[in-house]
Amino acid sequence: MVSRLSLRAQQVEGSKTLELTMKAREMRKQGIDICIFGSGEPDFNTPQHICKSAYKAIEQGVTKYTPAGGISELRHAISDKLLEDNGLQYKPNQIIVSSGAKHSLSNIFFALINPGDEVIIPIPAWLSYWEQVKLAGGVPVFIKGKEDDDFKISPYELESAITAKTKFLLLNSPVNPTGSVYTREELEKLAEVCVNRDIMVVSDEIYEKLVYDGEEHVSIASLGQEIFDRTIVVNGFSKAYAMTGWRMGYAAAPLEIAKAMDDIQSQMTSNPTSFVQIASITALKGSQEPVREMREEYNRRRIRMVEMLQEIPRVVCSMPKGAFYVFPNIQGLLGKKAMGETISNDEVLSRMLLEHANILVVPGSSFKTENFIRLSYATDMETIEKGMTRFLDFVTNHVS
Ligand code: PMP
Repeated sequence: MVSRLSLRAQQVEGSKTLELTMKAREMRKQGIDICIFGSGEPDFNTPQHICKSAYKAIEQGVTKYTPAGGISELRHAISDKLLEDNGLQYKPNQIIVSSGAKHSLSNIFFALINPGDEVIIPIPAWLSYWEQVKLAGGVPVFIKGKEDDDFKISPYELESAITAKTKFLLLNSPVNPTGSVYTREELEKLAEVCVNRDIMVVSDEIYEKLVYDGEEHVSIASLGQEIFDRTIVVNGFSKAYAMTGWRMGYAAAPLEIAKAMDDIQSQMTSNPTSFVQIASITALKGSQEPVREMREEYNRRRIRMVEMLQEIPRVVCSMPKGAFYVFPNIQGLLGKKAMGETISNDEVLSRMLLEHANILVVPGSSFKTENFIRLSYATDMETIEKGMTRFLDFVTNHVS
């Protein structure tokens, strides 16, 4: 029978990671204590002053439609933030506020991609990138990052992936899932290639506030006028301010592109939530102390998790510089046996870790990189220590 679904819908893949998460939930319901390292979500509550600002806005009746791209006060506040934090000069009308960075990305893709246009995506990468690109009619072209280079792509690799059909490079730093951070020098070299070959860059900077060891976050858009003119910066409130459920993100773009995104958004969803926009101004203009405190806590967890992973035989884990993920190499466990079953790949290992060690991790193949797993340390220290002890126990006592 001919499918009733559009070709577009037939192409899109649901989240692979959901299956394990559902299983973990089911196990929890049965009373099994599961340590969850799957989530890309801060475990902290949204800072109180931001919540209060939203309550107040509701009380004051800020509950109506707003301009599609966001209220002017918020776009000014974002413009100030981009200048102060990132050295970027955007006018408020170049900033489009959306219901999360994910929504900003889909607006951008619909504004830029013609059928068959190629989008270069360094992998491992966040899995929504290629699904969204495909939904918009584009063709994802992957560059496989090398473990020795912290999975960061080189200008040569970028250069050789560019074709006449390349529309833009989709860059993410700090990177989900590896926690890698591109340095200024690395970005300068990538920017040079983009300018010379005249391709655009979509720069997802959602984890910018989560960098450690004195590393600095650099926006590729800040590296000269020519790259600025070709870049669209994406950012949001989910990670820095622990505001995942509020759904608030934004993009800053050359005016013509911002205008197209505004028109698309006005037809697809209208404005992002009115009172959340007020709370987001408070997030940007209020105390940044909670951001610093959360970063310090993530840092402690990062160090502890890596320390404990490094003690597990056959697991190789380096210290990531950003975001809240670690991405250990588990190749040494593949082909071994545990509980009468061969650990044939990262997906099997992830399922076995859930079933036999009661810890939830995400297989690297979800991010198009086999032989690795991703663990999020956006969870409390007690869970980290308990979970890593279980992992160690599983490998030392059951894998042979
Ligand atoms: N980009 C990356 C790299 C992410 O990891 C995420 C969230 N997992 C997002 C964007 C989406 O964030 P938001 O909640 O703002 O839609």
